[in-house]
Amino acid sequence: MQVSDLLIAENAKLKVIMIVPSLSNQDVAAMRDDTPGVGQLIHFNNAGTGLALRPALDAVKEHLDLEATLGGYEAASANSAGMDAFYTSLAALIGSKPHEIAYIENATRAWDMAFYGIDFREGDRIITGRAEYVSNYVAFLQMKKRKNIEIDLIEDDANGQIDLAALKAAITPKTRLVALTHIPTFSGLINPAEDVGEIARSAKLLYLLDACQSAGQIPLNIGEIGCHMLSGTGRKYLRGPRGTGFLYVSDDVLDQIEPPFIDLQSANWLDDNSYELVPHAMRFETWERYVAGQIGLGVAVGYAIGYGMERIGNRICALGAQLRTELSAVKGVTLHDKGARKGGIVTFTVDGETPAQTQARLSSAQINVSVSKGTSAQIDLPHRGLDSVVRASVHAFNTEEEIERFVKVLGNMA
Ligand SMILES: *Cc1c(COP(=O)(O)O)cnc(C)c1O
Repeated sequence: MQVSDLLIAENAKLKVIMIVPSLSNQDVAAMRDDTPGVGQLIHFNNAGTGLALRPALDAVKEHLDLEATLGGYEAASANSAGMDAFYTSLAALIGSKPHEIAYIENATRAWDMAFYGIDFREGDRIITGRAEYVSNYVAFLQMKKRKNIEIDLIEDDANGQIDLAALKAAITPKTRLVALTHIPTFSGLINPAEDVGEIARSAKLLYLLDACQSAGQIPLNIGEIGCHMLSGTGRKYLRGPRGTGFLYVSDDVLDQIEPPFIDLQSANWLDDNSYELVPHAMRFETWERYVAGQIGLGVAVGYAIGYGMERIGNRICALGAQLRTELSAVKGVTLHDKGARKGGIVTFTVDGETPAQTQARLSSAQINVSVSKGTSAQIDLPHRGLDSVVRASVHAFNTEEEIERFVKVLGNMA
């Protein structure tokens, strides 16, 4: 079976015939050539960190060398085009304006700058779902402690995605924010971010999307999604350097979100007694930063755009579907992904061993996977009776052959 057939098979319930533009074998071969690690291992931990991409890695190394030979400030001036390219690339990735993008050290702080920038009042309500990321949820709980806000946790629908009717019904005059995780860190689920956006828009609610796992995995378009704020990381499906991330804040809500911290990048000091915030999303940045990382992430994003996010996304979803299909035939393996639409994250458990043991055994065969723990998914995994699950996350540079080898190794253990 072809990868494209599998994607159609998985979407058969939707009863649509789809033309699925995917990457050619030649594209995949070229991507593997640009991925130094593929010769040594099977990397199915792209939801943890995407395996390093040579052009991004080279850009980081070159900039670090430039800092060593020119001086750090001088290297930044010399490479200002690379720093600017970060904004234009990220804007092209999500369909925003470049000045609506901020460079932030990771996705968590990016999300925090938006969330803690909202002036919550006592009794305000936040709507969220069971896919929400651990760090976001503990921030809700902290805000609940500080400001006495309420959290409305929306149940899953029958398919396991956020229940849109329940979301609509949960909106009250006190509702302030809809906060959604697009693709959770612990499941193949792709939440219907566009439908949520439509509901948020008609109720005139602020909408904050955690796109940490979706950026680089599937196409993102903020015009279609309709979110006001969106956060992402560099190191996962975008395959940029660690210690990098970004935040999108729409011009439309810029004045409603007060940066919780400011510095000489985000504000101009006007005189002894006054300052003004800079006019764009740069007000959420700090001046000091990992410049080489910013340049490297811009290169990684440009690389993905070069191949086309639609084609990359289709391949990732198809490989995820292939992995699920093949795993479902292995005795003793139980799949745990939910959702009407699923991506490249595949979660499962193996009878007779803990997820940590499965991970260790795969690791001894040079296969990288991760373990998602219930303690990082308190509103999801424990409610499904799961302490933890094995997480195998595929990227476009992975191959059908790697999946076959993975399943064979796993089957031998099971
Ligand atoms: C990894 C992850 C984050 C946090 O990203 P960092 O860059 O590590 O801060 C946030 N949300 C989701 C859904 C994630 O998977």
